[in-house]
Amino acid sequence: MDFLNKVGESLTSFGNGMSARTKNIMDQSNLNSQLRQHENTLKGLYETIGRQYYAEKQGKGEGEYAEIFEQVAGVEALTDELRKKIEIAKSMVPCPKCGGLTESTSRFCKNCGNPMQPSGNTDTPAAKDTTQSNSGDTQS
Ligand SMILES: [Zn+2]
Repeated sequence: MDFLNKVGESLTSFGNGMSARTKNIMDQSNLNSQLRQHENTLKGLYETIGRQYYAEKQGKGEGEYAEIFEQVAGVEALTDELRKKIEIAKSMVPCPKCGGLTESTSRFCKNCGNPMQPSGNTDTPAAKDTTQSNSGDTQS
């Protein structure tokens, strides 16, 4: 009986050990996710402070902020440029003759001067014609 009790004890302590370890891992991931949430909140709050200060100063930083403000203005200009480029790229259509991309508003292809389709420029990418011309040259 004494022996059985001991076995039982060691079994439960073993089980406890396992569950404690599992619990510890779960606690850790729970704590980690809580930490990440709070870090994200902090990030957002700092960003709000930065944006508000930037707006308040109307982009004219004083002292040590001057350099950071310059960087912000620079990167903002870059992102604006990229957005415009993306917008233009989105509105590009392939030329039915050479397959080169031209603004959908253009009446003639930039590459070969072929007249572009006058209307329905966004929903007709002229897929039938480009498959023929694509086989030979990709750029000319
Ligand atoms: Zn063309």
